[in-house]
Amino acid sequence: MKVLVINCGSSSLKFQLIDSESEQCLAKGLCERIGIEGSMITYTPDGGEKEKTVTPMPDHTEAIRLVLEALTNPKTGVVRSLDEIGAVGHRVVHGGEKFAQSVIIDEEVMAAVEECNDLAPLHNPANLIGINACRKLMPSTPMAGVFDTAFHQTMPEEAYMYGLPYAYYQKYKIRRYGFHGTSHSYVSRRAAEVLGKPYEDLKIIVCHLGNGASVSAVKNGKCVDTSMGLTPLEGLIMGTRSGDIDPAIIEFLAHKEGKSIDEIMTVLNKKSGVLGLSDNLSSDFRDLEDGYHRGDENAVRTMKTFSYHVAKYIGAYTAAMNGVDVICFTAGVGENAPLVRNFVCEYLGYLGVELDQEANRKRGEDIVITVPGCRTTVMVIPTNEELAIARETVRLVG
Ligand code: ADP
Repeated sequence: MKVLVINCGSSSLKFQLIDSESEQCLAKGLCERIGIEGSMITYTPDGGEKEKTVTPMPDHTEAIRLVLEALTNPKTGVVRSLDEIGAVGHRVVHGGEKFAQSVIIDEEVMAAVEECNDLAPLHNPANLIGINACRKLMPSTPMAGVFDTAFHQTMPEEAYMYGLPYAYYQKYKIRRYGFHGTSHSYVSRRAAEVLGKPYEDLKIIVCHLGNGASVSAVKNGKCVDTSMGLTPLEGLIMGTRSGDIDPAIIEFLAHKEGKSIDEIMTVLNKKSGVLGLSDNLSSDFRDLEDGYHRGDENAVRTMKTFSYHVAKYIGAYTAAMNGVDVICFTAGVGENAPLVRNFVCEYLGYLGVELDQEANRKRGEDIVITVPGCRTTVMVIPTNEELAIARETVRLVG
């Protein structure tokens, strides 16, 4: 079956068409600046040239219409007609406590996702708009919703509760949810597969280090803790998000800088993280690595602090699981930054970790980067959230 995977943001939409039998990506692309002046679609068929077209996209329905037009284009398209697309898989950011699994989308599901809008006001409404636009243009194609939070719903109460008045949990469902669940699930399973060991017997820590970053603890095939919280702001230092801070800093800054809560939240989400910590050198680890090699003090501080926080979470999750068998690095930074992996693993001597430096320099493959015989195995597993969504969709649609 050919599955269209859609990841819809407020002004952008990423898509991939995946053949579920060969698990090959047939075409992929991105619509940008939806509803804004200068919108454009980028489309790349497998093995073909990338094409970029600037064209008006007043709304998401028009964006999806252009995606479907590109996929069926007689010259560069990869399907003859839309009938060849058997199902659509939508990434949905927040499923609250309602969704511990992916689901087939129907009216009831749409209403339940809408109820989670409060928990993810930037993401869920955009996801819903994308789903509605798709349903309008492909009314008879089955669609699945795959939630970023679902994999983490197995966390025990002691991991997901905050030390806040219990009434806030009862009234507003304030608790840890966690995100990147599709990636944590895919990578942890894949690690077990590559090692040829039963998933249900392993204690795995996944470090998803991209622009957004999170760590999760997966014990016997179930997530038992993760670093993102009610929102993706908690946990590791990220590209531009602060991660964990003393909550009193918010009030302190409000007074000192004369800022509103909204303005401070913008600082914490958009101006902090490695961007802020490096005194605006960059949010991109390629620049930070270059800076580190030049001896730039902003880059050195940032690389060291970022890595220290990752190592601290690994320590915490080793304690949470009473041990760890496998530690996986994934996503843009986790897959491509050997220096970060080196810095993090320098803290893991107590787990018997010793890196194989040659393996650690490789890219783009599932690989063990510890020397043979280490008590704890460290791996790099490239994530593939789109493939995971396509698999889930096929499982549900049958
Ligand atoms: P997201 O999906 O959260 O936007 P990604 O997982 O694509 O993020 O990761 C993007 C980040 O990966 C970039 O901001 C950059 O810091 C990092 N990255 C990508 N390629 C490299 C590389 N070759 N070396 C170091 N870091 C890289």
